[in-house]
Amino acid sequence: MASSYFRPSVDAMTGYTPGEQPKPGTKIIKLNTNENPYPPSPKALEVLRTLDSEWLRRYPSPYADDFRHSISKVFGIPHDWIIVGNGSDEILNVVIRACTEVKRKIVYPTPTYVLYRTLAEMQPAQALEVPYGNDFALPIEQLVNAQGAVTFIASPNSPSGHTIPINDLRQLATQLSGVLLIDEAYVDFAEESALPLVKEFPNIIVLRTLSKGYSLAGLRLGFAIANPQLLSGLFKVKDSYNIDAIACAVGTAAMLDQDYKNECARKVKASRVKLAENLEQLGFQVWKSQANFVLVQPPTANAEALYLGLKEKGILVRYFKQPGLADKLRITVGTEEQNQILLMNLASLM
Ligand SMILES: *Cc1c(COP(=O)(O)O)cnc(C)c1O
Repeated sequence: MASSYFRPSVDAMTGYTPGEQPKPGTKIIKLNTNENPYPPSPKALEVLRTLDSEWLRRYPSPYADDFRHSISKVFGIPHDWIIVGNGSDEILNVVIRACTEVKRKIVYPTPTYVLYRTLAEMQPAQALEVPYGNDFALPIEQLVNAQGAVTFIASPNSPSGHTIPINDLRQLATQLSGVLLIDEAYVDFAEESALPLVKEFPNIIVLRTLSKGYSLAGLRLGFAIANPQLLSGLFKVKDSYNIDAIACAVGTAAMLDQDYKNECARKVKASRVKLAENLEQLGFQVWKSQANFVLVQPPTANAEALYLGLKEKGILVRYFKQPGLADKLRITVGTEEQNQILLMNLASLM
């Protein structure tokens, strides 16, 4: 009898642990997975309600072309500079499959999005983690020396919320021989984007998602922008029909409704500033965030105990039992009302 049905790399990996997902309708304040607290664009919901059944009978466009053209229009980028994924997570996976193998490294600064490591273990490819410096300074020299086939940089980063200065990214891209993937999952809440760099550098991919800024985490839709030559290898590796017809149609309407997305982002950013101030008044250390969450360290109380105490009150925040993060919490910015309930409960728990 075989000792295992699985590849050794699969036996060895632990697998990704997503944030807790209570059933919709459960009375819970969910501030643990950085979803947008506002509903998706009414125009996108209208498309969903009036969907033609013929779209479901047929196979969808292999490249989600309507959606690609909407991105092209909004960003002023030719459509062949765009690849669409079933969530940006799928594109991360496609990049790893296309660019790495056992002896080709995946490099990223930590702490960051935990999925990078899981995807590397799956391939398998060697993951080389380089710790951020003080105040989350980008360790450019170490990242370059690590010689990754792919280097991942999340900006804004999770769970810290900080952004990487464009000039640091430029310097990194110049010195790297491999691909630099800039994961902009939270860019809709930030002041600056690295998108213009894709025209300057043949090795830069900028990754975006509709899960955060566009309130469509359940739809599973992401995209990446890079020059067509860099995308060519990715197109070979992706599933042939990776985007379903519903996601393509709803996502197209959401993309074209930039006014709605920007208005929701404006509210989230205003609430983020207020939440950070209120948490500081409670004695928390709050890291400067350009995303829709804040990383905080409680003054004296134990972070895990606070996480559990909040959970008992029906409020979910994210706690990472990891070196460097075990004394901190990551809290998604909710609606004004949700944030007030959170603050009241934190005050009473402390
Ligand atoms: C949420 C998130 C993603 C995943 O987005 P999906 O499009 O929902 O797969 C990617 N990167 C980072 C850093 C994220 O926080």
